[in-house]
Amino acid sequence: MDFAAAHDDVFAAVGVHPHDAKLLDDAGRARIRAWLGAPRVVAVGECGLDYHYMNSPREVQRAVFAEHVAWARQLDLPVSIHVRGDDPEAWEELLDIWLAEGRGDVDGVLHCYTGGLDFARRALDARLDVSFSGIVTFKTADELREVAAALPLDRILVETDCPLLAPVPHRGQRNEPAWVAGIGAKIAELRGAPVEEIARATTANARRVFRLPERAHA
Ligand SMILES: [Zn+2]
Repeated sequence: MDFAAAHDDVFAAVGVHPHDAKLLDDAGRARIRAWLGAPRVVAVGECGLDYHYMNSPREVQRAVFAEHVAWARQLDLPVSIHVRGDDPEAWEELLDIWLAEGRGDVDGVLHCYTGGLDFARRALDARLDVSFSGIVTFKTADELREVAAALPLDRILVETDCPLLAPVPHRGQRNEPAWVAGIGAKIAELRGAPVEEIARATTANARRVFRLPERAHA
């Protein structure tokens, strides 16, 4: 956050990851609410549900995610959402909370998407855009590639999830922002579209969702 405040082309989101949901206390809530008003803090998150490692109990994760969505609605900020791919219940509960707390008034992104096409379409209907990480280049990710090829171009983003999930051929290395280009190139290939078109669209989508200035730096 201090880094974002000091750099014109860096923006921050503030929130509690579902792994740490159980650590959120009233002092933490007050700090987050204050930070959400800091310069170049553009989103709430990442927050969400992760039933894979179960570092926090499910009911705590649900309550903390609901709080984050309520903050976003009150403060008129978009949300960056984490949901882990291997438990269908997590996805259904996430969408339920999103719809109940967001009341159709909040925009968001499903970051590092790993779900299926049907869920992605339901998410789009609920004002959630879908963001793809290096996973889309991984050998085993055929289903995800179908999603990346099928969703409307004006609703998809690309991201690093740095330091994790470096795209092929950098897999296993510390991820770098520059390598999102490889994710865009893969999506271009899947869609039979020019890379420039994917770059333009995903940049515009990120600017729209996070309400970033047209040019971050002169
Ligand atoms: Zn995440």
